[in-house]
Amino acid sequence: VTGFWGLSMTHTLLFLATFAFMELAAWSLHKYVMHGFLWSLHEDHHTPDKTRWWQRNDAFAVFFAVPSFFSILLGTYWINPHWATLGYGIMAYGVVYFFIHEVVIHRRLRFLELNHWYFRAVIQAHREHHQNRFKEEGKNFGMLIVPIRYYVEAFRKA
Ligand SMILES: [Zn+2]
Ligand SMILES: [Zn+2]
Repeated sequence: VTGFWGLSMTHTLLFLATFAFMELAAWSLHKYVMHGFLWSLHEDHHTPDKTRWWQRNDAFAVFFAVPSFFSILLGTYWINPHWATLGYGIMAYGVVYFFIHEVVIHRRLRFLELNHWYFRAVIQAHREHHQNRFKEEGKNFGMLIVPIRYYVEAFRKA
């Protein structure tokens, strides 16, 4: 049985499961680590230094790129193709995260605006995450999956 794009069903499901798992991983990293013992790296995302484009917080992108890169490399040439699929799932999540978080929400690059109710919900939820500039008492740590009321509200305003 083939899944999407000519991939086997196993690879398709593994890819989608990895992508979904990454939202959970990103949520828990954001909630417990970035707003926890690595707040020193995340803080400048909440109170940006306008004199420079990069943020210390960008280090987390590298953090996720490393397991993705090595999963693809080792999976393709050494371990097995399933392992590479995990790497592609992580990579796909990273790419989507980049476009939604850096481009659509924070406008660090100005080339993409998405006005669908789904994206308006995600944007609003993340804006409210940024209303709190501190380590403690944050909300909406997820990116692609946010509390349902944001979707309902955005859909109603359509
Ligand atoms: Zn945060
Ligand atoms: Zn942000």
